[in-house]
Amino acid sequence: FSSSAATEEPITPNVEIKHTKLLINGQFVDSASGKTFPTLDPRTGEVIANVSEASVEDLDRAVAAARKAFDEGPWPKMTAYERSKILYRFADLIEKHNDEIATLETWDNGKPFEQAAQIEVPMVARLFRYYAGWADKIHGLTVPADGAYHVQTLHEPIGVCGQIIPWNFPLLMYAWKIGPALATGNTVVMKPAELTPLSALYVSNLLHEAGLPPGVVNIISGFGATVGAGLASHMDVDKVAFTGSTATGQTILELSAKSNLKQATLELGGKSPFIVFDDADIDEAVNTAHFALFFNQGQCCCAGSRTFVHERVYDEFVEKSRELAKKRIVGDPFKQGVEQGPQIDVKQFKKILKYIKSGVEDGANLETGGERLGSKGYYIKPTVFSDVKDDMLIAKDEIFGPVQSILKFKDINEVIQRANNSRYGLAAGVFTKNIDTANTMMRALRVGSVWINCFDVFDATIPFGGYKMSGHGREKGIYSLSNYLQVKAVVTPL
Ligand code: NAD
Repeated sequence: FSSSAATEEPITPNVEIKHTKLLINGQFVDSASGKTFPTLDPRTGEVIANVSEASVEDLDRAVAAARKAFDEGPWPKMTAYERSKILYRFADLIEKHNDEIATLETWDNGKPFEQAAQIEVPMVARLFRYYAGWADKIHGLTVPADGAYHVQTLHEPIGVCGQIIPWNFPLLMYAWKIGPALATGNTVVMKPAELTPLSALYVSNLLHEAGLPPGVVNIISGFGATVGAGLASHMDVDKVAFTGSTATGQTILELSAKSNLKQATLELGGKSPFIVFDDADIDEAVNTAHFALFFNQGQCCCAGSRTFVHERVYDEFVEKSRELAKKRIVGDPFKQGVEQGPQIDVKQFKKILKYIKSGVEDGANLETGGERLGSKGYYIKPTVFSDVKDDMLIAKDEIFGPVQSILKFKDINEVIQRANNSRYGLAAGVFTKNIDTANTMMRALRVGSVWINCFDVFDATIPFGGYKMSGHGREKGIYSLSNYLQVKAVVTPL
């Protein structure tokens, strides 16, 4: 591991933080209470900025602005083509400010700057262009109903959408939710994660620069238990879309059911299997399994966190995975070439170290890592366990950190049963050169995404979402449009 950057003085980010207030009705405003909360630098635990903390009163103001923009403002009167042009202009502005946005994302989240600047921010621009293209292509059908009626369907926006996002991909989650909501003509009140509010505020200013009318997108930074729960239970919010933990997803569904039965889309946790058969290209499987787990400091909902390897190639796979993890470059995420930055905060950091301890205590073999790196910030050495058994906590729970667990299997039926034996069903990876094995696996795995001889392929066109306790509904691609549309049947006698 490269520990130098974790112990050296942190690099000072070259960006001015312009937006820390709430965005309500097109204006950056203080919270009604005047309260703020600090957002912290995961490299040091020091305060980056104090951000306005929304209260329930601010939530009501934001919902009222979104309602007015939906019912009366220019938004519902605009043509779909005009809406689409705003989204295209927004994508251009994201590209123009690519490095500034990536800097904020890295500073607030701790992810490598190169990852934010070269992968994530460009993906956000791509996603807005994809949904800009859809805005003027949404239409209903005529239905060949029996006999004497002309029947047509109208696809209409749902209304005011509450959106609650997590901290692991702050800006990508913003895009996955706001892109389809705006393309379909809805208005939005979004609550970013309290750990990473900065990029959503910054780009929402650009969205207005692109021509978005006031009140269409409102950003209320604040905490889950107050404004998050308030959004899910608000009587004047028509839909809630959430990404985060399964436990919070259950709370949101309950709040929405008990209030006005608003529709809910949920993208939740996972414990995704990554399955390597003995006919796979082992070097490629080792590299991809490493990426599947360690990408974004292991803080991915779809992380390949149960690596199942066939017994005939197990020892070779473990040895190569250990050596690869040892070479991983960990350090200040602003430093060139760094592959892994700090974990998001002290709470996650401690939780991950506790899971590592449980793995050792449960008898898994610690191949490498297993401890903190440096003495400040939340850096953890890339950790690999072998001889992991299905009933160990590290094989069952979502760790959300840089901890790879490698399990052994003997045959295809056994691995299908074990891979599916999880409350989650978000994604899976399969490595094999045999088409029959690939065909069997893609059908047998009860998950929302199967990546064969690849992992984490996230184009704007590809739907993503979970089976079982990993969620409801799909985001991205055409599937996300239906999350934000109502279908009205109109029947006329002939
Ligand atoms: P979290 O559930 O604690 O928080 C997510 C968001 O929900 C935050 O904005 C938070 O403020 C808010 N929230 C918390 N309590 C709330 C409540 N009672 N009512 C309403 N909102 C509330 O999750 P997290 O720790 O921020 O994120 C990590 C989790 O998210 C992991 O479990 C991960 O798997 C999951 N995740 C899933 C996906 C996916 O697409 N499936 C993507 C990213 C993260």
